[in-house]
Amino acid sequence: MSQLRPMIVGLTGGIGSGKTTVCNMFAERGVEIIDADQIGRALVAPGSIALQQLIALLGQDLLTPDGALQRQRLRHLIFTDVHARHQAEAILHPLIRAAIIRRINDSSSSWLILAAPLLIESKTYALVDRILVVDTDETLQIQRTCERDHSSEDEVHRIMQIQLPRNERLTHATDIIHNNGDLANLQQQVAEHFERYEKLAHARQNNSPAS
Ligand code: ATP
Repeated sequence: MSQLRPMIVGLTGGIGSGKTTVCNMFAERGVEIIDADQIGRALVAPGSIALQQLIALLGQDLLTPDGALQRQRLRHLIFTDVHARHQAEAILHPLIRAAIIRRINDSSSSWLILAAPLLIESKTYALVDRILVVDTDETLQIQRTCERDHSSEDEVHRIMQIQLPRNERLTHATDIIHNNGDLANLQQQVAEHFERYEKLAHARQNNSPAS
């Protein structure tokens, strides 16, 4: 059991940059992953207070007849209406942040990954010790996202426009994974980062006053 709170590696990147793929590779090595998107989805489960608040502000037509959130509609609303986006963020971000903090406090890992697409935009980075950016050339980002979601280039462009520009995101990075090659190349970079984080986390534990 760790004496200190875990070293937290915040993982972020633009749409379709490969965050989920990278997280899965770290998870295969036994790394604990806190996924802000997953937490967000659980928070708006049917019947939840957060969902009731969202609906009260943004409208009943975001619900299916059996009371579940229509994610596609919410996504569309958020990308087309800045005011609605800010309202949704004001409800969800503090709840997501509180749930992340609970997970961190309950963790017994020496280090973990906090994956958050909006890590930098939502200032969640205040919680992390390092920022690992998964960086991909924009043409590949668009191509991979379109293939995965069967969405149009226009749609992906629109999402990229409300995300942080690639260069700005990179200025926040302590570590970068370049995802422009094949999956074997990605796996190799994950292995290198894994080894480094293991060493850093253990050095941190050994230097703690409690050790
Ligand atoms: P989002 O921001 O939309 O959640 P993401 O950053 O989690 O996306 P992934 O879903 O991991 O991105 O990757 C996008 C797509 O690209 C997926 O279909 C994934 O399998 C594919 N992909 C990721 N990296 C590579 C790679 N190096 N080679 C080939 N395909 C890749």
